[in-house]
Formats: sequence, structure tokens, C-alpha cells
Amino acid sequence: MQRHWLVTLQNISSSGRSWDADVPKALLQDETCGSVNVLPGLTGDVHWRLELTRVAKFFHLSGDWKAGLMRDCSRCNAEFEWSTTGKTERFFQFGSPIKEKGDEQDSDEEDERAYDFIAKPGDINLLDVLREDVWLAWKADVICSDSCKGLCQGCGVNLNTDTCQCEQDDSNNPFAALRSLKLDG
Ligand SMILES: [Zn+2]
Ligand SMILES: [Zn+2]
Repeated sequence: MQRHWLVTLQNISSSGRSWDADVPKALLQDETCGSVNVLPGLTGDVHWRLELTRVAKFFHLSGDWKAGLMRDCSRCNAEFEWSTTGKTERFFQFGSPIKEKGDEQDSDEEDERAYDFIAKPGDINLLDVLREDVWLAWKADVICSDSCKGLCQGCGVNLNTDTCQCEQDDSNNPFAALRSLKLDG
């Protein structure tokens, strides 16, 4: 199963390769299927549209993905499905960033800084690429909805689902006294 998500750049022809697939959640959460940390709380497979193109020794991996993950809302603490999308963009080229003695002088004038150097034959685990991309898109603070009312500062109830108890009993609230003053006036 996992072999399916391994590509060898050397075997990629100039016509490239493309994927439009649901990457199984089970593989993305299996520690033995890659070296990048697994994705916690995936709610399902991750849809990935991906294209790998080749020009001579230069490779370009690009695409976009959509994933759902169980997260805790940073406003109300409730667990919800965080739906997120992101892009994949990687540039690879064969070779080593450190020129060794005897290496032919590379006369390419292209900007090589954007390229990751990879040794032939150039094995890439796409599961790791996808995990990395989802981690890069990770946000520390996520909210369940734009209209999330959060927790009441007074009684701590989740205002999305519960009724605040503060208004019923605000005898300890200094503003309660003010309110009655105004009413009297
Ligand atoms: Zn919330
Ligand atoms: Zn309250």
C-alpha cells in the first residue's frame, strides 16, 4: 500500500505524473509509513491533487489538498472539525549542495536556492510531503465558527450551547448595583 506513495524522481519521464486521490487517513496516521510526525485527529482521508513535472534534472511538485482535523476551539474549548486547505510546492534537483572535488562546474544560471538537492535516484515519500504541508498549515488558534460566542467570563458556560447563569444571580457583580441606581433615576 505504502509503495503507492513513494516516487523515484529518476523514473519520472518528461511527461511527468499526476495524482487526484484520497490519501488514506490510516497511512497518514501510521508512524511506520514515513518520518514526518503523523497527523493527529484526522477526520478522514486527505484529498490531494498533485502534479510532478520534470525538466532535465529539475523537478516541480505542485498541488493542493483538503483535510479535516478534530481540534479544540480556542474560544469555547469545544471540539470541532477544522476544515483546512493548503498548497503543495516543492522544487527538487539532483545533486549535492556541497560541491565535492572533481565535480564538474555547474554552469546553470538558474536560481538554485529554491531547489532542494536530492541524491539519485531521488526517492520521495509523498506521505511525508503531505504531512509536512498539513503541519505547515497548522494554526495554533482555531475557532469553531466565526460566530462562536465563547465562554462566559463570569460563570464559564459555553455560551453557544448553554445559558449564562450570571444574569440571574449578579448580586456579587458591582455593576448590578449601578444598574439598579440608573433604573431608580
Ligand atoms: Zn467555539
Ligand atoms: Zn455567565
